[in-house]
Amino acid sequence: MAVFTMAKLLPTSTSGSLPKPSWLAQPETLWSPWKLQDEELIQGKQDALRLSLQDQQQSGIDIVSDGEQTRQHFVTTFIEHLDGVDFEKRKTVRIRNRYDASVPTVVGPVTRQKPVFVEDAKFLRQQTKQKIKWALPGPMTMIDTLYDDHYKSREKLAWEFAKILNQEAKELEAAGVDIIQFDEPAFNVFFDEVNDWGIACLERAIDGLKCETAVHICYGYGIKANTDWKKTLGSEWRQYEAVFPKLQQSNIDIISLECHNSRVPIELLELIRGKKVMVGAIDVASETIETPEEVASTLREALKFVDADKLYPCTNCGMAPLPRKLATAKLHALSAGANIIRKELQLG
Ligand SMILES: [Zn+2]
Repeated sequence: MAVFTMAKLLPTSTSGSLPKPSWLAQPETLWSPWKLQDEELIQGKQDALRLSLQDQQQSGIDIVSDGEQTRQHFVTTFIEHLDGVDFEKRKTVRIRNRYDASVPTVVGPVTRQKPVFVEDAKFLRQQTKQKIKWALPGPMTMIDTLYDDHYKSREKLAWEFAKILNQEAKELEAAGVDIIQFDEPAFNVFFDEVNDWGIACLERAIDGLKCETAVHICYGYGIKANTDWKKTLGSEWRQYEAVFPKLQQSNIDIISLECHNSRVPIELLELIRGKKVMVGAIDVASETIETPEEVASTLREALKFVDADKLYPCTNCGMAPLPRKLATAKLHALSAGANIIRKELQLG
């Protein structure tokens, strides 16, 4: 008799970052400085990674991550490990056309002398047999947080970063990572560039990978600069419409996006029909905990445009700036909401 097991429907995951324990970094703060040093910091990050994993497991999350416990910020920490960028030489630039920030300068060829996150990924792999997802910054989002005094071309710099990301991704794959995700909030802003060379750079970053790949495109963390920007976007957020057609044609396996409480018209998902979709069913810009029924209702809407075997319930974005208890409660809601829909699908 043939025996086969079906993969669990609607595997849940998070977009990436989760709050850090208060003994490791100041809570509810982006770019929060570390509270430990040297060997204590190394140990502390590993302990935090274990706690974050346990929180995800106890909340019923199916595809787990490191909760980005070893990084201060999803873009800067990666860049800090590269050569060619001078962190002392700072310039003020406009990030994603939204807010001014003092950023480091590209002063020479960018290169990766040694792996950035590979040891962390191996450590996570040792802790669990569940599927693991690892987030990296996307090439376009990386160039947008730097002042370039060397290449003098956004496209060229992004291409160089794509090659570096590809080296890192291949080593993460070898370390046992199941899904490698590139965070590209910049895809929601620079539509012409995304279509001209942004997606090509993303495909360079995933070139030759055998594991699954994802791109996360969102409206950002729940920080003031982002919520102010969202107020200017009008009653319908149609940004995805500009980049989905080309993404649908790309080699990327999974597209992770923001849905719950956002003004994204859900029918835009039709434009990426055939792709796996990580549907954001948890609002990271609100301190209200979603009810399981609210999560279920977002997933139900998404199911009109995404086949059930391609739908991955997720959070809208990272939850690093949220209180820890709140983030955990939101993860529980995500699992409970996914469970409601799993039951409906089985009955249907
Ligand atoms: Zn995000």
